Amino acid sequence: MNDITAGTLRLPTRIHFGYGSRAQLPEVLRGHGRRVLAIVDPFLTRSPVLAEIRTALRAGGLDVEVHSDIEPELPTASLDTAAEFARTHRPDAILAIGGGSTLDAAKLVGLLVTHGGPLRRYYGENLVPGPTLPVVAMPTTAGTGSEVTPVAVVSDPGHDMKVGISSPHLVPAAAIVDPLLTLGAPRAVTAHAGIDALVHAVESYTAADPDRAWDATLPVFTGRNAFTDVIALRAVELLGAALPVAVGDPDDRQARENVALGSLLAGIAFGATGTHLSHALQYPIGAVTGTPHGLGTGLLLPHVLQVCLTDAGTVPRIAAVGAALGVAPSTVEEQARGAIRAVARLNRAIGVPASLAEIGVTRDQLPRLAELAARATRLVAIAPVPAPPTVRLDILDQAYTGHLAEGNYR
Ligand code: NAD
Repeated sequence: MNDITAGTLRLPTRIHFGYGSRAQLPEVLRGHGRRVLAIVDPFLTRSPVLAEIRTALRAGGLDVEVHSDIEPELPTASLDTAAEFARTHRPDAILAIGGGSTLDAAKLVGLLVTHGGPLRRYYGENLVPGPTLPVVAMPTTAGTGSEVTPVAVVSDPGHDMKVGISSPHLVPAAAIVDPLLTLGAPRAVTAHAGIDALVHAVESYTAADPDRAWDATLPVFTGRNAFTDVIALRAVELLGAALPVAVGDPDDRQARENVALGSLLAGIAFGATGTHLSHALQYPIGAVTGTPHGLGTGLLLPHVLQVCLTDAGTVPRIAAVGAALGVAPSTVEEQARGAIRAVARLNRAIGVPASLAEIGVTRDQLPRLAELAARATRLVAIAPVPAPPTVRLDILDQAYTGHLAEGNYR
């Protein structure tokens, strides 16, 4: 396998992980000022955890205002309203507690309050002009990794599918990952967020390794690198073993801890490298079917990896993913095919559907979906294999029938 001799990481200045780590919140927030806007997931308004956190913050001398009107899919208008609310409170920092949608909302409210709207000015890469209000992020799902990544995704009525804003300025100032907050997550949320984390790790590890132009502004997502290789494989190992356990027994504290750590590590990895084809193809599929992001990326991953096997340089990487998923040592080619089978098996174990047909996609929609995926230019560009329309359609054709899920391989 070729060695990588370069790397970039852009991360929160503090990351705390572990049961009980939420107790660090008052100290972390005090580092940014006294006035805090807490943007919290709607489910938390009914939870004693929020009351506990508010009490701790007030006891720590912080002035906290709560906003919990987070709409599914993050329509831009709802973020404008949240930013209006934020401006009246004039916070020194934003505390984000919730799933990926809530964390993304907080990042974008910080952006709007600091640099003004409309959000569409920032769609794409590297268009945020400077630092934003600091965000301290505490995820309740495991996960999107949004607590450590430089990206947030919104729904804009002027666009067919969700759009991303990526900038190093969107990396939260601090991340506190306390697995306790994920303990009550419903089975489907655990499964979909967890498999998305696995896809983050695998796509980070198998991303292209483009030439770096150190004398120019770096892209937000730089391709696989020397740091992330180590981190991504550990994430695969943790998630592969613990995710089926956490989905099967949501109260298993050890499994929740391992899934939360795997998700955090996957976020650190893909936040630097980027993800590729499963993500590019999921965006239009999510828009057409209204299915959760992770369900789509998980369903697509075996089919994307199958196409990646056509690149000889990527085969050993897929084999390493297989080893991290517990596939027995064999020839590199066999271990790589074993990795694909292992991902398909994991999908089955946690209830991710095996085919696009099962989630309501029709065959005649496939060419249009393949075409729309090209709009995620940075994701397609970072794939380890060229992905012209024919290749994208090939992946969708295979995923449509769920061919690989039945154990059939070309
Ligand atoms: P989510 O935030 O949309 O939450 C899903 C549902 O679960 C919501 O109803 C929420 O209220 C509920 N929920 C969350 N945590 C819970 C808990 N502990 N107990 C009970 N209910 C809980 O789901 P998600 O998978 O965390 O995030 C998906 C979003 O993240 C998508 O919008 C996706 O585009 C985005 N995303 C962002 C990044 C990034 O790096 N910024 C990466 C991947 C995905």
